[in-house]
Amino acid sequence: MPETINPLMSTYGRYPVAFVRGEGCRLWDDHGGEYLDFLAGIGSNSLGHCPAPVVEALTGQARQLMHTSNLYRIPLQEELARRLVKSSFADRVFFSNSGSDANEAAIKLVRKFMKDTGRPGRFEILTAHNSFHGRTLATLAASGQEKVQRGYDPLPTGFRCVPYDDLAAMERTIGPYTAGIMVEPIQGEAGVVIPRDGYLEGLRDLADRHGLLLVLDEVQTGMGRTGRMWCHQWSGVTPDIMTLSKGVASGLPMGVCLASDRVASSFTPGSHGSSFGGNPLVCAAALAALDMLEGPGGVLAEVSAKGAYFLERLEQLRQRHRMVKAVRGRGLMLGLELNAPAEDAAAICLSRRLLVNSVMGTTLRLLPPLVVTREEMEQAVGILDGVLTDLF
Ligand SMILES: *Cc1c(COP(=O)(O)O)cnc(C)c1O
Repeated sequence: MPETINPLMSTYGRYPVAFVRGEGCRLWDDHGGEYLDFLAGIGSNSLGHCPAPVVEALTGQARQLMHTSNLYRIPLQEELARRLVKSSFADRVFFSNSGSDANEAAIKLVRKFMKDTGRPGRFEILTAHNSFHGRTLATLAASGQEKVQRGYDPLPTGFRCVPYDDLAAMERTIGPYTAGIMVEPIQGEAGVVIPRDGYLEGLRDLADRHGLLLVLDEVQTGMGRTGRMWCHQWSGVTPDIMTLSKGVASGLPMGVCLASDRVASSFTPGSHGSSFGGNPLVCAAALAALDMLEGPGGVLAEVSAKGAYFLERLEQLRQRHRMVKAVRGRGLMLGLELNAPAEDAAAICLSRRLLVNSVMGTTLRLLPPLVVTREEMEQAVGILDGVLTDLF
C-alpha cells in the first residue's frame, strides 16, 4: 500500500488538521499553528490539555504499574470508587472504558435487577428522541437518532423512544414490560437541549409510581461540566443509576456506572466485567482530576460563574446577528443555534483557529475546558463574531 493511502476505516469525516501539542485551552498543529480549543475533545479534556497534576500522576503511575486486570484487587480503583461515592448519591461503582460501555453496564444492571426482584418480564428501557447513548448495538438501539442506527438492523430489542421533556408521553409509553427510564439530564448531541424545570422530578415520580429504575446518562454533563459536579444536582432528584465517561479521567479512556446499593447488589461475581476497566493508570489520572476539580479552590467552584458570563456574551452575539436563532447553556455546556448549517460555521471557525463543532445540523456546540479564562472566552466570542459577520 503506497504511503499516501490512509488505511484507517472511514468512520469519521475528519478535518485536515493534526494537533501535536496541547496546553490548557490551546492546541498546536504540526505546522506550529496555535488554536483555541472550545470543544475539549468533545468535553473529555475538561481540565484542559496536559494538566500538570494529571501528567505527574500518570507518569509516576506508568513507571510503577499500568495494568493487572480485575482478577486482583486494584487499590487505586477502590480509592477512586470511594471518592466518587462520597461525591454522589451512589454506593457502588463499576469501571469500564467508554461512555457506551458504561451505558451497557447500566442497561444490563436494570434488566438483572428486574429479574432479581421478581419481575423477569420487565426488560424494556424508555429513552428520549434525539438522545445519544453510544455506538454499541444496545446503546445504538437506546439512542433516539435514526442516523446512527441506519444500516444496522436488526437492532437489539427492549428500547422505546419518546419525545424528550414530555412527561405525558413518557407516562403513556410505560407498559407491562417497562423496566427503566434512561435520559441525559441535558441532551448533548441533540444540540444542548435543556429540559424544563421539573422534568427530572417528574421522571423520578413516574419511576417510583411504576416501580422502574431511573438511569441518568451523565457521560457528557457529569464531572462539573454544567457547574455542579453532576447535572442532576440542579434538580432535587436522585437517580438509581448514573453513567459517566467523557471528563472523568481528563482525556484518558474511562467509563463509570454508579448505582445505589439496592440496585447494585444485582451485580455479583461473574455478572459483568471489563479487561481494562479501572486499571491503575486511568485511576491515577482520574484521582488527580478529581483533586483538581473538587474542594476549596477547585476548578468546579468557578464553572457556574464562567458559564453565566459566557452565556451572556453569546446572548449579545444573538442580538447582533440575525443568523443566531437561540443561545442555550448551563455551566460550560453551551449551544448557539443558527438559522443556517452549523457545519459551515464550524469549518470557518477552525480556519480562524477556534475549535467548536456542529450538532443536529444547525447548532454550534461549545464545551471549553473548565479551566477556561475570561480572556479566552473573549477571544472565542471575537472569533465567533467575525465568522457570523462574514458568513451571513
Ligand atoms: C459521548 C456520549 C456517549 C458515548 O460515549 P463513548 O465514550 O463515545 O462511547 C454516551 N452518552 C452521552 C450522553 C455522550 O455524550
